[in-house]
Amino acid sequence: MSAKILDGRVIADELRAQVAVEAAQISAKLGRKPGLVAVLVGDDPASQAYVKSKGKATIDAGMASFEHRLPEGTSEQELLALIAKLNADDTVDGILVQLPLPGQIDTARVIEAIDPAKDVDGFHPMNAGRLATGLPSLVPGTPMGCIIMAKKAHASLAGLDAVVVGRSNIVGKPLAQLLIAESATVTVAHSKTKDLKEVCRRADLLCVAIGKTEFVKGDWIKPGATVIDVGINRVPGPDGKNKLVGDVAYEEAAKVAAWITPVPGGVGRMTVACLLVNTLRAAAARAGLEAPKI
Ligand code: NDP
Repeated sequence: MSAKILDGRVIADELRAQVAVEAAQISAKLGRKPGLVAVLVGDDPASQAYVKSKGKATIDAGMASFEHRLPEGTSEQELLALIAKLNADDTVDGILVQLPLPGQIDTARVIEAIDPAKDVDGFHPMNAGRLATGLPSLVPGTPMGCIIMAKKAHASLAGLDAVVVGRSNIVGKPLAQLLIAESATVTVAHSKTKDLKEVCRRADLLCVAIGKTEFVKGDWIKPGATVIDVGINRVPGPDGKNKLVGDVAYEEAAKVAAWITPVPGGVGRMTVACLLVNTLRAAAARAGLEAPKI
């Protein structure tokens, strides 16, 4: 068997095109474009690249993008003061603080300071709690992207045995909540799970988000399963430059699975597109407009 590829480039492009249509409609109603602000502290090259690509995607979708770049030595108080200003600014619908933050800043405190209505990363405990209790919420982009991709392989996720490997607040836990909401039967595995291989082999839908290069092997996968690989790991390539690989041994897994996401070009592509979806949802909800149809 050779798995069909869930192509994040294609699926994300479709989503971004839908966002652009909805953004134009919402802009007409608001009399301004929905606005997303990215806050970057320090000069980590990977974070700079992420913020740049998010800004470009926001503008390409017909929304307004603002950036605040603060020096590495910024204090927590200074960052909290900026967030308070952005919370009060009516032209700002979404606030994202690029992680990781420098060590002098308490990340949890910063996340909690963001107005939950503008929390387009979906990391605020209010949004996490609303997701867990089945209330409308802003959902983190990466797990939202995983669900959209899984639904390209399965018309419905109801009743599927879904295994999520990884229990972080930004991927594993919200993904498990979204799968429960889709009526999948969900198992969450982590570093203390016994016999992880056998747990994975039960999965009709296997989602892996652990940050360990090609950790999940081909014989961990149930024949015909759908595999969603969230991992992004940098390893030296044959040309000496770093290349990206996932948490799943792709070549082996693709021989066993029915559907698989590649790395790069898989879930990573979805995350930014879903951030744009959240910005639209936040803009509509804040203005009391009907929720966008995506
Ligand atoms: P974290 O480091 O926050 O969490 C990793 C999770 O994996 C933990 O729950 C940990 O378990 C679990 N884990 C680690 N080692 C093992 C193991 N040997 N067996 C089973 N479980 C294990 O990572 P994130 O959730 O932030 O990210 C995970 C991966 O996804 C990374 O590669 C990251 O780069 C990528 N990522 C990709 C995104 C995208 O856009 N595609 C966005 C966000 C992340 P425990 O809790 O027991 O320690």
